[in-house]
Amino acid sequence: MILKKIKEKWHKIVGPSYSKHTSDSKILYPGFIIAVSLFSIMLAQFPQNSRFRRWYALSHHNDIVNKAIQYTQDNIPLSDHGEFLTYYRFTGFGECNPDDVDTNAPMIALTFDDGPNPESTRRILDVLTANYSHATFFVVGTNAEQYQETLKEISAAGCEIGNHTYNHAKLTSLGADEVAEQIDKVNRAVKKATGENTTVIRPPYGAYDEALMQQLDVPVILWDVDTEDWESRNAQKIADAVMSKVKDGDIILMHDIYESTADAVEIIVPKLKEQGYQIVTVSEMASYKGKTLELGKAYGGFQNAQQ
Ligand code: ZN
Repeated sequence: MILKKIKEKWHKIVGPSYSKHTSDSKILYPGFIIAVSLFSIMLAQFPQNSRFRRWYALSHHNDIVNKAIQYTQDNIPLSDHGEFLTYYRFTGFGECNPDDVDTNAPMIALTFDDGPNPESTRRILDVLTANYSHATFFVVGTNAEQYQETLKEISAAGCEIGNHTYNHAKLTSLGADEVAEQIDKVNRAVKKATGENTTVIRPPYGAYDEALMQQLDVPVILWDVDTEDWESRNAQKIADAVMSKVKDGDIILMHDIYESTADAVEIIVPKLKEQGYQIVTVSEMASYKGKTLELGKAYGGFQNAQQ
């Protein structure tokens, strides 16, 4: 009797196409979808550390429960939304959009200076794209003018383009006019290739002073992990430098003009992903961490939102 009533109600909900003339098997499919959705929503209501969640994670995806989920459990106060998304991403009980970024899970910004280079930059872009990752490329004007196609590819890959001066000048040794020229020539080359302006600047040698800060109209981005890739030119050493130091919020310095750096990126990116790191541009990382980049400030990493 009760069952019959439920059935009648169900028919009203799903509409006339599933009315009594339709076989029960057709009702099963939407019913299954709804049941799975309800189960997922129910699961999301359990606190992160509940025995039920742990049981579910361990029994289903033991191998995917990784550093990221450990990290979110131990270190970061979770918002309800973030908690669900973190759980969803890292236990993989459903495939979510791999481009989605979980603001509660660790992230880092890979940055590449002195390019672009038609060979090594392209190889780096291939690795990033295959791993749903983005990076920031601080280009020098001489290369930007010469390799316009590579600039287009950087932009098409969803990566960020920053200014690294026209010919790698030490800006603190130049007068205001020369500084303006060093910066504008890069902007013109980037704009010509991509239609976009550069969004950030990294002064060569990390050299800046008060006068330079006054003159710049984009934020200064430095780094907190130096791979010294220009010196070692050894992929394994570069990879080790990153993997031994990396932590949430880091900005990692590399140079996309060396084949050895491209080799290293092929090692580093999948490893970082495996450890639960999301690889984003500097500006993306700032915004995901709730930080507004301000003019007149130099940023060397985003370890927390209060920084
Ligand atoms: Zn440089």
